[in-house]
Amino acid sequence: MSAILEVENLELCYGVIQALKGISFHVNRGEIVSLIGANGAGKSTLLRVLAALNPKYEGEVLLDGTDIHAIPRKSLAKRLAILPQGLAAPPDLTVEALVDYGRYPYRSWRTIGRSKEDREAVAQALAETRLEAMRTRQVMSLSGGERQRAWIAMALARQPEYLLLDEPTTYLDIAHQLEVMEIIKRLNREHAMTVIMVLHDINHALQYADEIAVIKDRQIFSTGTPHDVLNVAMLAEVFGVCADIFTNSQGAQVLSPVSLVR
Ligand code: ATP
Repeated sequence: MSAILEVENLELCYGVIQALKGISFHVNRGEIVSLIGANGAGKSTLLRVLAALNPKYEGEVLLDGTDIHAIPRKSLAKRLAILPQGLAAPPDLTVEALVDYGRYPYRSWRTIGRSKEDREAVAQALAETRLEAMRTRQVMSLSGGERQRAWIAMALARQPEYLLLDEPTTYLDIAHQLEVMEIIKRLNREHAMTVIMVLHDINHALQYADEIAVIKDRQIFSTGTPHDVLNVAMLAEVFGVCADIFTNSQGAQVLSPVSLVR
């Protein structure tokens, strides 16, 4: 399988705070990769670097073998979409206008109105996320789950090769968490979209990710399939918890935290 992203010896500091130390890993095309780790481990910082949003690092980030910062911004913007945490929209912005905003890399000052491709991409993104009936609603009037689907639709309208998501299920109830995870899985399987997502729910990572990168103290602790990385020792060392590990009815491993490590 070919690597779409390669990260070599990445070091990043915010002033005196070292947020990433010697990070090396790669992401294969068409995979779902989850970044997991404790609060403050460096996950969001790494995700932002992979989206070329934080250029002040040492080391290499290569997209298909090319330094991510050597790729013209508009070309890069067509290839990737990122959903950071805690997004907010202007109060009067409708769902359709938000989703249409995802098309901005395809526009230029010469573009007047929306092209046929724009209209089709927006319609497809609304359909994929089951938001057609809500297209005229204001984004900020939606429930948390609907709003998260609207942000995902905006990213989809761009038709990116890879999608970066920072904790996409935060604040959602368990049904809406699964709904968002299923949308992400479908995009990955049906559109061969590479997905890299920060997840706090390790059970979601275990169930949906092809590969997991565990981050501890701003460094890679381990990488591999869910089966490779999940074990009692990792949970104790990285998260400081004792946990039971089971296999669920779908054959996925799941964990149940039992106590803090003493
Ligand atoms: P969480 O799970 O809590 O969201 P995280 O693993 O995503 O955490 P980061 O947000 O990447 O962690 O932060 C890594 C470290 O860098 C933390 O110590 C954090 O305080 C620090 N940090 C992050 N952003 C900045 C910033 N803009 N300026 C200074 N320090 C920062």
